[in-house]
Amino acid sequence: MKRVDFPEPVKALIGELKRLPGVGPRSAERIAVWLLQSPKANSAPLAESLLAAREAVRPCPVCGFFATAEGCDVCEDPTRDDRILCVVEQATDVLPLERSGAFRGRYHCMGGKLSPLDRVSPEDLRIPSLVRRIEAAPEEIEVILALGSDVEGEATANYLVDLLRGRNCKLTRIAQGLPAGGGLEHADELTLMRAMQGRRSV
Ligand code: ZN
Repeated sequence: MKRVDFPEPVKALIGELKRLPGVGPRSAERIAVWLLQSPKANSAPLAESLLAAREAVRPCPVCGFFATAEGCDVCEDPTRDDRILCVVEQATDVLPLERSGAFRGRYHCMGGKLSPLDRVSPEDLRIPSLVRRIEAAPEEIEVILALGSDVEGEATANYLVDLLRGRNCKLTRIAQGLPAGGGLEHADELTLMRAMQGRRSV
């Protein structure tokens, strides 16, 4: 007796869904079945918006943030401060910073972080364009390194400090410390150490 499984087209759909980040085999099956059976599922608009977004959105040639043919919302904004450049790992890192309202300068998205294990070396990141942007600035700018506090983020920050020191910029790093609303007893040692190092006068 042949063991019954989903028909081929459904298996193909599950196979594609499984490749999405954070979607395991079980979730892929659940999503596929929902797309096939739920009256709320709207496959055509879903497929169309997926293709349209893929077609229309590309990295901004200047900063690496998401851009369309009309340009990038950060680079096109004349009200932003050109004298502050915030360096982040990924284009998606811009969004939480924007939502925080804490920053009104320009961004540079590296497109990743240095990681020998994943074979990511400086040539794979948007480093030459970062150097060009800094050197092309009419006056000295502040370059804020807003990179992750993991090993790769640290390595990337150290690399950039060595590379950019002495160029047309003042280098700073965002502070690392305690999460909002948390007490000292819940913080790990590394976080506490960095919070202590990052202290400022009040
Ligand atoms: Zn841009």
